[in-house]
Amino acid sequence: MGNAKLRLDDLVSRGAAGRETTKLMNVKVPSEILARIAALAGKLRTSKTEVVVAILNEGLDAADKELKGWKAPPRPVIPKDRRCTISGCEREKVAKGLCATHYQAQRRAKG
Ligand SMILES: [Zn+2]
Repeated sequence: MGNAKLRLDDLVSRGAAGRETTKLMNVKVPSEILARIAALAGKLRTSKTEVVVAILNEGLDAADKELKGWKAPPRPVIPKDRRCTISGCEREKVAKGLCATHYQAQRRAKG
């Protein structure tokens, strides 16, 4: 763990642009994870932001490798007579000619 700080720096500044400016992103994180991030930042004498960016870079690289060549499975095509009657909606109807989304929206609108 002697080069943890070097490794962190590499992870934080990874990418073509190097260390980039940060933007605020409001994300709800389980408090246990937040505590671990804070503890790690304390150990490495760095900011929580740097720890999070390093973790994200590492995780996103791993995901890129793992998902290389992967394609989402094609969406099932619903036959026209079973589609929601709202124009442009291609979901399957479930009640009163509407898909679940539009049926719920109509119910909410009616109160
Ligand atoms: Zn619909």
